[in-house]
Amino acid sequence: MVLILDSSALFAMEDLPEGDSLCPPGVVEELRRYKDGRLDLWGDLLRVSDCTKASEERVKAAAKKSGDLGRLSPVDISVIALAIDVGGIVLSDDYSIENVCAIMGIEYRPVGTSGIKRIEKWNYRCLGCGKWFKEKMDDCPVCGSGMRAHRKR
Ligand SMILES: [Zn+2]
Repeated sequence: MVLILDSSALFAMEDLPEGDSLCPPGVVEELRRYKDGRLDLWGDLLRVSDCTKASEERVKAAAKKSGDLGRLSPVDISVIALAIDVGGIVLSDDYSIENVCAIMGIEYRPVGTSGIKRIEKWNYRCLGCGKWFKEKMDDCPVCGSGMRAHRKR
């Protein structure tokens, strides 16, 4: 089972779901833009793949018909298109994405009701001195080393 994750799904999750997780490059860019700690944790587990132009056009056509096109970002469109390409299940809390998936017969799951635990708290640990911090910082204020995000248990 391949799951296609959009940004709303990734932002809502504490753990990657069971199975293969795939997302278009645009989703990873969004996480990176928000300096999201999950990318540090999941970077190696998350497969990134481009959708085909043909699928992208099919999604756009369907979204235009349903009136969702204006509410879908290019990244949203690539999420749905990728699901067509690999036969995957879309994981998203975005109503327009869910709507277009339903119209196109693509399996989808909302994150909020899929039993996936929502994100709670993150802690950050220095890679150098090992000190823990609550706030996200680029460098450790003690020793200046890099920081890594950890899920709070
Ligand atoms: Zn340090």
